[in-house]
Amino acid sequence: MPAAASEPKRVLNGCSACGRDFSSVTAFDMHRTGKHEHLASPEHPDGRRCRSDAEMIERSMRLDKNGRWRGPASASPWFAAAGS
Ligand SMILES: [Zn+2]
Repeated sequence: MPAAASEPKRVLNGCSACGRDFSSVTAFDMHRTGKHEHLASPEHPDGRRCRSDAEMIERSMRLDKNGRWRGPASASPWFAAAGS
């Protein structure tokens, strides 16, 4: 077992709205969508909100082994190996 697997999870770029964690600020920014003027609500369906898992996967974001979402640009050995 790799030593990393037993390390306690640290929140790097946690989202207080959806509770997800992100490997980079770039990945965090990718998961938010909508207009900045207002939050998403029944009155403002186009407002600011978090993307769903499916929407993030559509954008080539992936959940890594640490439970963090990462963007398509942050390639890693794990990222490459996960395609199998
Ligand atoms: Zn979020």
